[in-house]
Amino acid sequence: MTDYYDTLGTSKGASQDEIKKAYRKQALKYHPDKNPGDKESEQKFKEISEAYGVLSDDQKKAMYDQHGPDALKGGMGGGPAGAGGFSSMEEALHTFMNAFGGGGGGRESIFDSFFGFNADPSSSGMRPGTSKRMNLTISFEEAIRGIEKEASITTYANCTTCNGSRAASPSGIKACSQCGGAGQVHQTRGFFSMTTVCPSCQGQGQIITDPCKSCRGTGREKKKQNIQIKIPPGVDNGMRLRMAGYGDAGEGGGLAGDLYVYITVRPHEIFEREGDDVVIELPITFSEAALGCKKELPTPSGGKVRINIPEGTQNAKVFSIRSEGAPNVHGSGKGDLLVQVTIETPVGLDDKQKELLKQFAKLEGSHNSPRRRTFFDKLKGMFK
Ligand SMILES: [Zn+2]
Ligand SMILES: [Zn+2]
Repeated sequence: MTDYYDTLGTSKGASQDEIKKAYRKQALKYHPDKNPGDKESEQKFKEISEAYGVLSDDQKKAMYDQHGPDALKGGMGGGPAGAGGFSSMEEALHTFMNAFGGGGGGRESIFDSFFGFNADPSSSGMRPGTSKRMNLTISFEEAIRGIEKEASITTYANCTTCNGSRAASPSGIKACSQCGGAGQVHQTRGFFSMTTVCPSCQGQGQIITDPCKSCRGTGREKKKQNIQIKIPPGVDNGMRLRMAGYGDAGEGGGLAGDLYVYITVRPHEIFEREGDDVVIELPITFSEAALGCKKELPTPSGGKVRINIPEGTQNAKVFSIRSEGAPNVHGSGKGDLLVQVTIETPVGLDDKQKELLKQFAKLEGSHNSPRRRTFFDKLKGMFK
């Protein structure tokens, strides 16, 4: 009785990674391209491919582990014929290609490491549609509220006449005779056998004998359409919206691409976004800062708030008004409105104003400016 683990030179309980490594080692040793005309190697190559075919499939492996190779005889949907041997070299080569010939996608590829070329990764005619990008500029208020915008885009869509089938009628589609409809063919190039996209049908698996006239057999047509772009409240400058499926239609049954909408938000005259918070810079006079004042300010959502600036407010002080900022674009609450005070030194004073300020200066004591006093106390210490 054949033991698949023995055949591969590994043991029961080996991981998929170990099984693959073991198979690779054996397969490279007995590959028919390396041992031309050697019947024994050929037989061995078939055996290890059969073993790998079973052990690399979790379901078959479980059955084999429990019941032995007999469990896999028949009824396994075209699987290996058990201890009776692999049905054909073609199938053995296929197993080999599936294990190592894939190229991209992070799969280990002997072609990469040994020869520096890849088997064509697009083994079928299925191609996803191209994704598109568009730019959209909105106002600050629109970004806060959210808005729906209409836009016109031109993309490749499925041909409406043939519904993407590429043929004028169902009888105009024939299975490709070169690949038998598989879309790929096996070729031997020097040392290795590789799978490539069928040159007759370009991987489609079918030949269109009666192409659709509207799309000239491409299955797609350029289509201009008006779309509604739903911009959620709280969107910020530089954000990108993805509209799944609004790109070009795919080919051969591939998925449609996406539309990416890049948002530019026009700057506002007084509001500035800082994440979900919105900042207002509020200039006040020096006497307002000293005596205190009340101000009415607009909120980003179009409302009003009253803010109380207490007496003795210092420059750059920030007052935070809770939940009056921008809504979070993902729906988690709202940011704050941050009011930052800047004290404007008076300019253009007339004689009377100057006289009053001079009188005030005479009455000013060091307790009126505690930070200034601390600073000059430190200076005194340094000048000693
Ligand atoms: Zn068509
Ligand atoms: Zn073909």
